Amino acid sequence: MNDRVQRSGEFEMIARYFAPLAKHPGAFGLKDDAAVFRPRAGREIILTTDAIIEGVHFMQDDPPDTIARKALRVNLSDLAGKGAEPAGYLLSLVLPAWVNDSWISAFSQGLSDDQAEFGVTLFGGDTDRTPGPLVISITAVGEIEQGMMVRREGARAGDLVFVSGTVGDGGAGLEILKGENAKLDLSQREFVISRYRTPEPRVALGRKLVGLASAGLDVSDGLIADLGHIAEWSRVRIAVMASEIPISDACRALWGGSSQAIMRAATAGDDYELAFAIPPVRRAELESAASETGVGVTEIGRVEAGEGVVLLGPTGAPILLGRGGFTHF
Ligand code: ADP
Ligand code: MG
Repeated sequence: MNDRVQRSGEFEMIARYFAPLAKHPGAFGLKDDAAVFRPRAGREIILTTDAIIEGVHFMQDDPPDTIARKALRVNLSDLAGKGAEPAGYLLSLVLPAWVNDSWISAFSQGLSDDQAEFGVTLFGGDTDRTPGPLVISITAVGEIEQGMMVRREGARAGDLVFVSGTVGDGGAGLEILKGENAKLDLSQREFVISRYRTPEPRVALGRKLVGLASAGLDVSDGLIADLGHIAEWSRVRIAVMASEIPISDACRALWGGSSQAIMRAATAGDDYELAFAIPPVRRAELESAASETGVGVTEIGRVEAGEGVVLLGPTGAPILLGRGGFTHF
């Protein structure tokens, strides 16, 4: 295909599959070169971006709709961790030759479903061809009350540390998909695989954390590593009680309940839960926020003077991490 034919193919693809997703008037139906977006009075724009790459973050034969949803959801999770209300996103596609119309059709359907679920719209993007792997880059756009983004810094000694949902499921799902461990029944397999493929960005809970959490973020690299970011930027130590870390039945069935299994769940990553600190006097407010949003939160530890993250065993003695990639122990 010469360049000209290829380009016009892409214009048709955008008009057919992506223009219907561009519902915001400022996106001009993707018929212009850029979009305009104005946050409501008293709010500012919050931006985040994340790319996923074939062979690194997903496989060529993964269902295209779940690839789309995960690409969008990891970005919405970043917004959630910062307390933002999502508005929309930009989509850059770098497409290898194997991507055909039916793939794009299923991919755009995944986006459409999640747009409805999370109240976001497509603002624009870019489309290119590559001899290399498929790359999907999404930039999410949200709004937040001026100056109120939940930061990594701000946790104080004495604050309580919480995490939403359960951790380890995404890592367990990946292990099942790689065929490394078959020790689960069908419904548990489906649960952890769906936690891996379509994580649940905690947008509503994140909104409630604005002005409530002293620091926070979404957990993508693993609970311990991400708490390490809060510890580092807040210049505090975070002590986590291993026995309090919330782990699903499926994850427990796969990995067991040993302290090694808990560490595995706390370092697996791909959780997209929220981890945050709050002053102890605000515990009741957090509990109502959690029940209003229907998202469970678990108190897992305390902020202390010092540095790094320490995982405490049942006797209060530190449990050391066996695996590398981690410097806070
Ligand atoms: P340019 O020549 O400036 O790169 P494009 O042809 O890439 O312009 O884009 C034309 C319009 O289509 C723009 O509004 C752009 O935002 C939109 N667009 C292009 N690719 C995508 C995509 N993958 N998803 C959403 N919008 C896209
Ligand atoms: Mg372009």
